[in-house]
Formats: sequence, C-alpha cells, structure tokens
Amino acid sequence: MSRVYNFSAGPAVLPEEVLKQAGEEILNWHSSGMSVMEMSHRGKEFKEIAAQAESDLRQLMKVPENYVILFLQGGATGQFAAVPMNLLREKKKADYVLTGNWSKKAISEAKKYCDVNIVASNEDANLTYVPSFNKWDLSNDAAYIHYTSNETIGGVEFSWVPETGDVPLVCDMSSNILSRPIDISKFGVIYAGAQKNIGQAGLTIAIVRDDLAGDALPYTPAILNYKLQADAKSMYNTPPTYAIYIAGLTFQWIKKQGGIEAIEKKNIRKAEMLYSLIDASDLYHSPVANDSRSRMNVPFTVKKAGLDEQFLVEAKNNGLVQLKGHRSVGGMRASIYNAMPEKGVAKLCEFMKNFEKGHA
Ligand code: PMP
Repeated sequence: MSRVYNFSAGPAVLPEEVLKQAGEEILNWHSSGMSVMEMSHRGKEFKEIAAQAESDLRQLMKVPENYVILFLQGGATGQFAAVPMNLLREKKKADYVLTGNWSKKAISEAKKYCDVNIVASNEDANLTYVPSFNKWDLSNDAAYIHYTSNETIGGVEFSWVPETGDVPLVCDMSSNILSRPIDISKFGVIYAGAQKNIGQAGLTIAIVRDDLAGDALPYTPAILNYKLQADAKSMYNTPPTYAIYIAGLTFQWIKKQGGIEAIEKKNIRKAEMLYSLIDASDLYHSPVANDSRSRMNVPFTVKKAGLDEQFLVEAKNNGLVQLKGHRSVGGMRASIYNAMPEKGVAKLCEFMKNFEKGHA
C-alpha cells in the first residue's frame, strides 16, 4: 500500500524525508557500525546527536542564552505536575486559563499541589473560543500563569501571547510548537510532547528560563526536576535517545524548509484552504469562533445526520485517514501539522467537495 495522508492528532505524520533518512541510517549511523538505538547515551556519537538537536532547536526558535532546553520523558502530562513542583516555591497559588480538555487536565493535576485560580474559561460556549485578555481575572499572588496555546481536541488556538509582567508565563505548546514564530523571552516555561510537530512519542521538550530552575519542592521526582536535569544536560537518567535523534532530523528538515517563518506561511495557506471550504459549504460546520481557529487541528461537523461513518469510510478509500474527531466531542478533525503537505490538504478539500455534491 502506498502512503496515505494521515490527519491524526498525534502521534502524527512526520516529514517523509525524515523517515527516509532514519531508514537509511537505521543499521549503521554515520559509519559508527551501529544504530542510534544501540548507542550509549554517554558515548561520543550520541552526545553529538543530542548537542546538534539542541543547537538546531535553539537556532530555529531563537531561544535566548538564559533559557535551558531539556529533553525529558513523561509527556506533556508529566509537565502538568512538573510545572507546579518546580515553580511554586514558597507560593501556594497558580493562575490557569481554561480553554479546553488539555488545560482542564493541566488544572486537575495542578490542584494536587496548589490552589488553582481559573482566570478565564470558555466553558460558557462549549470550549470554542479564546477568552480575551482584558477579561482575565488574574490573582496578585500567583506563582505563575499557565495556558494552552493550542487545544488539540477543540481546535482553539491563541494567536497572541499574554503579557503577564513579572509573573512567569507557562505554556503547554504541545500541538503548535514550531508552527509559528514566538518570542521566547515572554515565557518562563514552554513545554511540548514531541508526537505532533517534533517527532515521535516518548520525548518531551521543556524550555525553561534559567532562574526558574532550582528550588523545586522537596518531593519533586528527580526526573522532573528542572535544575537536576539542566545540570545533567538532560541525562540524569537514560534519555529517549532515538526520539531525540528523530527530533533532530525534524529540526534539520524545518531549517531546510526555510525555518519557522516559511513553515508558518505554509501553515496559513493550508488552514485557509480548509476553513474557507468549510465556511462556503452547506454540509460542513466549524464550531470554533473565527478569531480562535487553530491552524493545526481543524474540527468540523457534517450537518446532515447519519453521514459521519460514510464520510470516514469514503475518505479512507481515498487515502485520507484518521479524520474522526476526538471521542469526547465527535464529528471530524483534520490535524494539519507542519509535516502535512499542502497537497494533502488540497486532496482532503477536493474529497470534501465531492462528498458534499454526492449528498446534497
Ligand atoms: N497537551 C496537549 C495540548 C496535547 O495535545 C496533549 C496530547 N495530545 C497533551 C497535553 C498530553 O500529552 P502527552 O500524551 O504527551 O502526555
């Protein structure tokens, strides 16, 4: 079978060039006589791979010198706990913005460690918009402010970065990291699971302002302790070596595409193609407010009852897979991360138009 267009929310499509290179190098990396999977993480070869990946990411995201980049495990879910454990210090409270299922998960984990103040929520409109900053009810004694820049399930994305002054801003960027340029200096901590725009599952990246690493709560597990991991160059324990290697290949691929600015232009074109089709159609509907629509995850419904299953079956027959919406919301969802080619989105749009014609 030839390769399909895979619209999965994650683990998700990877650039074909990355997969090909990994395939070519799988038995014998750069004449080392072994696979990256078989290398000691303390050996010269793997240290070189990790250092290159880190420096490419630093260059791509323009990460300032006073931030450490950590290659961790435990997923973004691990970071839901790591953030309060590392950042609370003597404080008892943290501010959270509730914009969807993932911020809810971050909130329920944080509640184990501190008082959570929900500064704004979109639950009044079924998790479909980004609450505007002037309505946020910030507390004056929060250790940090946490938000989710892209809600993978609801398809709600921030197009702006909150200005939080001296209070460290923490962002779960799992599903839109590397998709648009951002000013890292506005953030205290950024974290992301790798399985969308970075590479394969098993790696979690945290970018931490260096004054925020240190003073973790005493019970913080060593592997989630930013300072310990920073001092150990993310090798306090055995890191996810192959996932770091794949991430490194993806960073090089992004550089070859022209960097994040060029990737963003492509992402804008892909998202516009799909949303304009949905908006012009009588059959499809996007539940998300116009100014909050995600460029990465596009949820939509088929308005005529009883057609969902048929849509999915016919899409699959056309080589378009993983379009089923998250089980908690139903409908459809097309995830169009960096590695989804424009022709994949064009093919989806063509299929959707034909499907609508067939069911007018
Ligand atoms: N945050 C967001 C925005 C996500 O999309 C996900 C997973 N898809 C998570 C957190 C949880 O990530 P993980 O499964 O890596 O723990």
